[in-house]
Amino acid sequence: MDGGRNILTGARPRGYVGRLAPSPTGALHLGNVRTFAIAWLRARACGGKVILRMEDLDHPRDKPGADLQALDDLRWLGFDWDEEHVQSHRRAFYRATLERLRPHAYPCVCSRRDVESAQSAPHACDQLYYPGTCRGRFAGWDEAAAACAPRTPCWRFRVPPKTEIVFSDKFHGLFRQDVSATLGDFPLARDPDGAGYTLAATADDLAMGVTEVVRGDDLLPATPSHILIARALGKTPPDYCHVPLVVGQDGRRLAKRHGDTRVSAFRTAGVTPEKIIGWVAWTCGWNDKNEPIGLSRLIGRSPLETIPDTAVVWNGSFG
Ligand code: GLU
Repeated sequence: MDGGRNILTGARPRGYVGRLAPSPTGALHLGNVRTFAIAWLRARACGGKVILRMEDLDHPRDKPGADLQALDDLRWLGFDWDEEHVQSHRRAFYRATLERLRPHAYPCVCSRRDVESAQSAPHACDQLYYPGTCRGRFAGWDEAAAACAPRTPCWRFRVPPKTEIVFSDKFHGLFRQDVSATLGDFPLARDPDGAGYTLAATADDLAMGVTEVVRGDDLLPATPSHILIARALGKTPPDYCHVPLVVGQDGRRLAKRHGDTRVSAFRTAGVTPEKIIGWVAWTCGWNDKNEPIGLSRLIGRSPLETIPDTAVVWNGSFG
């Protein structure tokens, strides 16, 4: 794969930059493969660049070896990429980014239970509304940390009143969220130095020049907060394309109870990469038949328009 380079000059066109961002909290499974296939094909179809970013900041939940296994599984499936980054090596950058965001941030000592009991209405997504209890309460992180020891505070983003974010998602269309009313001051990072998903992923997308974020639509309701962070950093956010997840027959996101959907388990069982990608292509409407096909054969034949707008149900076999 030439990664979209111009064969004569070796120069890379300025243009589309996409990313694959696995988290080593578990093994790569079918749902990840489908989302990553859509992301990779969108980049390769226009000669764009693909960044592989390992999102390994979730320490208690990260599984040893899952990062290398994910890379190996991706290569086995036919993915390639032009740059590779590991978030745990970028802590100094997150610290510096948090410093820049400090005028918008404050430490918060509320426990999850405190926040849950402050809910006045049922919340629309799994993010809780935060009424701003700790705004202006502490002079700094150390004072907050002393107040809630042995628990650790988190950093929250101060959302101005009447903050509504509207953006056009490439898959779901217009998305509108009154962040001040639905999320309130959302958590920016649970790490004192800012090294947590929300801050790190958003800052990395901007720093790495990502032009379009393709990811699962479970993250659609979190995206307005990412846009607010980008704006607070004085940057234009990337475009977003949130695609439906793969779920089990009970309609819930893929988990152990739906059987073993790890790529590594399929490999061990003798399933070919073409069989897995063929299933992905069929569920995305890129092929009428559920038949084996290599990932690179789908470049330029993988429109968003044919992808059903509801979750795909995994029925336990490739058929
Ligand atoms: N690392 C996240 C995951 O594996 C994806 C986050 C993102 O794409 O922004 O669920």
